[in-house]
Amino acid sequence: MMPCETVALYVHIPFCRSRCHYCAFNTYAGLESLIPAYGEALMAEARSAPEVRARTLYLGGGTPSLLPAELLARLLDFLRGRFGLPEGAEVTLEANPGTVDETYLWAARAAGVNRLSLGVQSVHEDELRLLGRRHTWSEAVAAVRAARAAGMDVVNLDLIYGLPGQTLARWQETLEAALALEPDHLSLYALTLEEGTPLEQRVACGELPPPDDDLAAEMYEWAEEHLERAGFVHYEISNWAQIGPEGPRVCQHNLVYWHNEPYLGLGAGAASWWGGRRWNNVRHPEEYIRRLTAGGLVAENVEEIPLRLEMGETMMMGLRLLEGVDDARFRARFGRGLAGVFGAELAHLAEQGLMEWDGQTARLTPRGRLLGNRVFVEFL
Ligand code: SF4
Repeated sequence: MMPCETVALYVHIPFCRSRCHYCAFNTYAGLESLIPAYGEALMAEARSAPEVRARTLYLGGGTPSLLPAELLARLLDFLRGRFGLPEGAEVTLEANPGTVDETYLWAARAAGVNRLSLGVQSVHEDELRLLGRRHTWSEAVAAVRAARAAGMDVVNLDLIYGLPGQTLARWQETLEAALALEPDHLSLYALTLEEGTPLEQRVACGELPPPDDDLAAEMYEWAEEHLERAGFVHYEISNWAQIGPEGPRVCQHNLVYWHNEPYLGLGAGAASWWGGRRWNNVRHPEEYIRRLTAGGLVAENVEEIPLRLEMGETMMMGLRLLEGVDDARFRARFGRGLAGVFGAELAHLAEQGLMEWDGQTARLTPRGRLLGNRVFVEFL
């Protein structure tokens, strides 16, 4: 069969050295001994995956930088061949400071990784401890230097704000320190207290103050202004890109999600959206390996996505982008314009000051960006 469609290819690596106190991702501590078998299982899943071509590749987790360098190189080589990844395509590796050094990153770069996304989170050691992060700020600085030395094209830093008890000044110090490292890209996330996590429980029992939404909004607005002055392009609610020789260094892989275009996920718990269907894989890595070793299937919860839902999700994802949703692009994809499908919702949100709609583009106002979830539900 001829490869027919391009997708963003995601590979999930569900292993971490320990669980951070706020984390609700599908990841496991103490199972690193499974990594070699997991690598084989990933390749087995790739062999039986749909006949598609990949335009980007993203290794997320978990902590993908726990993959030994030789396995990483073999996996990337295999996936590049299997999915026809073009030369120079964006290949991202998520990593935690303290798990990578220059030797590892040289090997990753030689294997084709050109974008490194580092979970740095905070400059303050007490905040890192509160979050249950294993690394220190100086390890984050060392990881950025090593990434530069290894020749990574793009270095992204993830930072978290809105921590219990965090002041605006402390957040400003984190962002200033991160900027001093000259990243190409920044992802800033407000802390969400996920049910059942140790951090949520400490807040629930009154040991820590609950998050202050107004203060978190102030932190976000300060970051928006500050990053604009620092020359960053704010292109998605939580993402900023520095300008490179070919324009803003936006994450090409995530753009596929925000445009609600097809993606294929490999690995335990990974989600896919392709051919009008969405599904996710079995979550636990042991079960994932077991099924693939036995020649079985790992996809679960396969769901047909009706057109109306696809249109709503295209709005929900597209409005995360500051460029908004373009009527002509929407019409080319669905055969109907935004006004015809969502006229009432757009008018209602514009009245509330959450949306700008000029008949050609729908985009969130600054207030809409702060209250995104209130907007998104309107389209589903
Ligand atoms: S490193 Fe990331 S994925 Fe792993 S436990 Fe911490 S937050 Fe979760």
